[in-house]
Order: sequence, then C-alpha cells, then structure tokens
Amino acid sequence: MTDIIASDPISTYVRGRDFQMLIGGEFVDAEGGARTVTMDPSTGAPLTEVPEATAGDVQRAIEAAQAAQPGWAAMTVEQRGACFARFGELLVERLEELAMLDAIDSGNPVSAMRTDVRISLGYVEGWPPMAKWLKGEVIPASPGNLHYTSYMPYGVVGRITAFNHPVMFAATRPLPALITGNSIVIKPAPQTSVSTLGLAELFAEAFPPGVVNVVTGGAEPGDALVTHPAVKRIAFTGSVPTGLLIQRRAAESGHVKHLSLELGGKNAMVIFPDVDLDEAVEGAIYGMNFNVCQGQSCGSNSRVLVHRAIYDAFVAKAAEKLAAYRVGVAYDDATDMGPLVSREHFARVNELLESGVDQGAKLVTGGDHPDGAPGDGYYMRPAVFADVQPQMRIATEEIFGPVMSILPFDDYEAMLAQANAVDLGLTASVWTNDLDLALKTAERLDAGYVWVNDSTRHYMGTPFGGTKNSGTGREESHEELVSYLEQKVTHVRLRDPRAAYQRLING
Ligand code: NAD
Repeated sequence: MTDIIASDPISTYVRGRDFQMLIGGEFVDAEGGARTVTMDPSTGAPLTEVPEATAGDVQRAIEAAQAAQPGWAAMTVEQRGACFARFGELLVERLEELAMLDAIDSGNPVSAMRTDVRISLGYVEGWPPMAKWLKGEVIPASPGNLHYTSYMPYGVVGRITAFNHPVMFAATRPLPALITGNSIVIKPAPQTSVSTLGLAELFAEAFPPGVVNVVTGGAEPGDALVTHPAVKRIAFTGSVPTGLLIQRRAAESGHVKHLSLELGGKNAMVIFPDVDLDEAVEGAIYGMNFNVCQGQSCGSNSRVLVHRAIYDAFVAKAAEKLAAYRVGVAYDDATDMGPLVSREHFARVNELLESGVDQGAKLVTGGDHPDGAPGDGYYMRPAVFADVQPQMRIATEEIFGPVMSILPFDDYEAMLAQANAVDLGLTASVWTNDLDLALKTAERLDAGYVWVNDSTRHYMGTPFGGTKNSGTGREESHEELVSYLEQKVTHVRLRDPRAAYQRLING
C-alpha cells in the first residue's frame, strides 16, 4: 500500500460529513429523514449514509426548478456561461476531493477519476460557445410570408444517470440542458451518489438557487421524475430494462415526453491480420476501460473479433499484459484497476463469468480475486476468454465488467453477421491498415459510434449514441444541444407594402 492509503482518504473526505440533497439552493435531508447506507467496494464495509428521496422530495425539487427557470432562461448565454465558468473554477479547486469521493464510493481508480474531473472541465468550457452559435432558419416556404424558426427551452429537465462515471456524469450531463435555458433535477445512481452530493456544493455556489437540484435514491424518485407532468424532457443513462420501463412509465403518465436514452453496449472490435499486434492489443485493452471503471462502461469492446491468422498471438499478448495489472484498493494511487461497484453487480458479473466456463470458453487469465486485495472487496482480475462461440452468453449479453471475449474469424461476411448479431449497437471499432477495408467495414457495422484504429475516445462536438436497443438520441454534440429545445416556426404574412405606405402618408 502506498502513502495515500496511510493518509486515509475516507477520514479526510467522508467521515463526519453530512451528505445532503440540493433543492432550491438549500441543502436538505429526505422527507422523514430516510437515508440509505452506501458501501465502500474496496473493502465491502459500510461507508456513509445518503438521503433516500421520496416522491414528495422530487415534487419539491421540481417546484424549485420551475420557479427558477424563467429567470434563468431570460439570461443571455454569456450570463449563463459565467455560472459555468465559476463551476469550472470550483471543479479545479476541488478536483482531488471529487476524484477521491468517486474512488471511495464507486471503486473506480482515483487516477482515472482525476481524469474524469479534467474531462468534465472540457465540457464545462465547451458548451457555452456551442450554445452561442445556435441558429434559427428563415425558410423560403412561400413568397408572401416570412417563415422563421426559433428555439424554446422545455422548462424543467429530469436527468437520471448510471453508476459508472459518477462525477463526470453529474458534472457534464446536465450542462447542455442548462446552457439552453432549462433548469434541472439530477438523480444519480444509488450505488454512487456520494460524489454527486459533494458536487451539489459546487452547483449551489455557481448557479442561482433552484436552477440545479440534486435528489438521491433509486427507482422511487426516478419514477417520480419520469412521470411528473411538469417534466417533459427526460434524459436517461442506464440499462436497457430501465430504459424500456421509463418509456412505458412516461407514456402511462398521460403526458407526452421527449426521452433520450443512452443504454447498454455489447460492442464489437474487429481486428484484421495486417495490424501492428502490439498496437491492436493495447487498443483492445484500452477500449475495455479496465483501468477507468473495471470494464463497467457502455462503450467497452467486450467482443473482440480477431482474424484467425493472428488469433493465438493476440490472445497470448492480451493475457500477458492484463495479468500484470495491479488490481486493488481504488483510492490507492498505485492501483490500475479497482473493485466492481457493488456486491450485487459483482455477483452478476461472476455468474456470467461462470457461464462462459460452463459453456466451454477458455478462461485464459483473470476472473479471480487478486493477491493482497482486501478479502471482502468486490475484486476480479481482468478476465480474457478465448475460443468464444457466438451463441455463448459472454458473447451476447452485456457483462458490464472486466471480461473480454475474444472470438476468431476466417470469413469476412460471417464476421460481419456475427458482429451485428446482437440487439445492441452502441460502439464498434475496426483495426486494419487497408483504407477500403476499414471504411467499408465501419459502414457495415451496426453501431452509432465507430473508431478506425482506435477505441474508447470521445470528442466533444461529435454525436455519441447508439442504434438498436442501445438507445435513442445523441449526446456531446449540436444534436444534444437542440434536443433540449423545442422548435417553433413563426409565419409572418407580408401585406402589400404600397397600402401600408399610403396609410402612413395619409396619416
Ligand atoms: P440502471 O438502469 O440500473 O440504473 C440507471 C439509473 O436509473 C439509476 O439512477 C437508477 O436509480 C435509475 N432507475 C432505476 N429504476 C428506475 C425507474 N423505475 N424509474 C426511473 N429511474 C430508475 O443502470 P446502471 O446499473 O446504473 O448502469 C449500467 C447500465 O448503464 C449499463 O447497461 C450501461 O451500458 C448503461 N450505460 C450507458 C451509457 C451510455 O452512454 N450509453 C453510459 C453509462 C452506462
């Protein structure tokens, strides 16, 4: 263990601290004082308590957001941008604290969570200028009218997020809704809401009261947000079953809603035999996000389809590199990969791992508890499966953990059919030095976000989102910005100017 453990970040950042929700600029407990215990996945020990919001708390948060929204929408983009700038300053000041809270609460390694905070800053700086460049249109639909479009914010937006990038999701996902004049109610995932409650202090300082509200808890506050009549725009990041449930519940509320859904992935990486083997193996490991969130990423390339000519060498090299990973306590600076987020998720990932072995895949490395890591933490060394058949569960189901399945291919068309055979289509990746092969294969992979000779990287301004059951809507781009605005067309009938002129002259 390194010094960081000796300095006890839990005492420094968590103990003795009262984590409260943010509603209307006030820090509050849940109605009736309900709280839930959140765990430290690195040790399996209770960490702290967080408020468990009721539907009544969500109602109060929505009312606060409604009250604040007209004033916020009346501000210029520059004025709203000034609040973003203050928020960015606070992120820099409190970077270490936020990264540590994430590491302690989620199990993601602290080094990666520092990067997540830095990535968040890029979005804080990036959205205001994008909003400044929003344009309406004049449409020449008829000669006798001026037809023009303008934008209106929805009002109150509901933002529900997943557990895997806690601070980054809470810090960045509300921003496009905010810069376009909406107020927001954020509900983070219950497994990892501590850092969002820390972040609430920054929101309170940077934004006018009620513009940003944070409620914590699980399905009850989530459902209250989704079904509330005042919340027409819901942005959701999470699993396919919850996404489908939210679509249903939104419809059942009797109110038409605009939903964007960022859901799961079972992403294919295709590797042709002309690649530089080291580079491709590094790309596959990097694209699994082992050292960011233990592979618990929607964009992870958990299916690697490798041409038979280099298959054995690829598997051996991937296994060798991953076997050297230091898996341990998330808030230790020396850790490459931390524990999984919760006992429940750990059990599910283990069950899928066992299904791979039972169905005849070859577990080449990992899947077990690392030497020296605390016994009750939810640890799993990065696992590599070889000889994976397309119908196995590890090749079809999203595992959302540190498990990479490597499948051989010999035939181009059969490989494409296999890559596209799952009902998810978030990301994909193609590795080859042949331009035609790269671009034509990218075109035929059914996914919303495709890399050629790369993986995992996001570029603000490029639309991120999935096809098939991976969701609907696009984020991180102009498309996301306008998705928080309703479009209006105004038709101005232009009367004969000569008659108007005569009226003016004749008084
Ligand atoms: P989840 O669906 O279990 O939970 C997501 C959020 O929904 C949480 O905040 C949860 O409390 C809330 N929720 C649960 N029930 C609800 C209900 N009835 N009404 C409203 N809200 C409700 O997902 P998770 O386990 O937190 O995250 C893992 C999943 O998220 C994976 O499938 C992963 O692929 C996906 N994900 C997708 C993206 C993306 O950008 N596409 C990013 C990260 C994670």
